[in-house]
Amino acid sequence: MIGRPDPFTGADPAAAAGVDPVRRAELARRLAVIEERIAAAARAAGRDPAGLTLIAVSKTYPAEDVVMLRTLGARQFAENREQEAGPKVTMVTRQLEQSRGDPTVGGGGGPGGAGVASGGTPGGSDLTWHFVGQLQRNKARSVLRWADWVQSVDRSGLVGVLSRLAVERGRPLSICLQVSLDLRSDFGRRVGSVVADSGRGGADPAELPALADLVDGAPGLTLRGVMAVAPRGEPARPAFERLRAVAERLVVDHPQATVISAGMSGDLEAAVAEGATHLRIGTALFGERPGVP
Ligand SMILES: *Cc1c(COP(=O)(O)O)cnc(C)c1O
Repeated sequence: MIGRPDPFTGADPAAAAGVDPVRRAELARRLAVIEERIAAAARAAGRDPAGLTLIAVSKTYPAEDVVMLRTLGARQFAENREQEAGPKVTMVTRQLEQSRGDPTVGGGGGPGGAGVASGGTPGGSDLTWHFVGQLQRNKARSVLRWADWVQSVDRSGLVGVLSRLAVERGRPLSICLQVSLDLRSDFGRRVGSVVADSGRGGADPAELPALADLVDGAPGLTLRGVMAVAPRGEPARPAFERLRAVAERLVVDHPQATVISAGMSGDLEAAVAEGATHLRIGTALFGERPGVP
């Protein structure tokens, strides 16, 4: 239906709405491939694909891509840099408001499908925004202007400020605790030496119970589960297996904290095999990020 030429004028309504039909076709094709990969991984693991949520990691990509992907059914998006995300979310919200009533951009959106779960933001648009980057306390206020979730809470020093800001804005913030899956950091601590930071962040699994209790008791914050990035230089599957063990321990004390956010473009199959519930997919959906390490 979407992009079908107007029978009277021959005009492409998507193009009229400022949508690049070539880019839109590419995003549609990439989304279909990812949904099939997720469905296949779910089948292989004996899991229901409906239990898997696709989060489109739109960092480095423009607001237009987010709007187009939304018309294709995506509802959850993630960003990792506040400076980039704040203005982008504002632009997306504005474009959706301007196009309200235009079935090619606003309105009910796409049908959804395997892995594209919906979730709404009260007020504003029907998108759910996740912050997945390293968070500094002095950036927390700007992040909470747009973020529905912060998935990268890895230290107790963040909890108080996030709680205060969530209460202040009058809308709860969903939290995932970011777990380090880097064995070298464990080892480094054990031998008492300073280890080069893997750069991927995350709390030591041993620190997790205390951090979880802190978040669970904080007004304005909802503890949802864990997030992790597979460490470089080792196979992803055993790392995600460690994450699963951490998540299983967490849920004993915090039964509502069932989210396991793991799996990116290169390792989503391993993540699904080890119980991931939320997949954060960037390059496979949008294409290679130009000039970003
Ligand atoms: C960029 C990013 C992703 C997506 O990675 P791709 O390999 O592009 O799919 C997922 N999670 C985090 C935390 C990221 O920063």
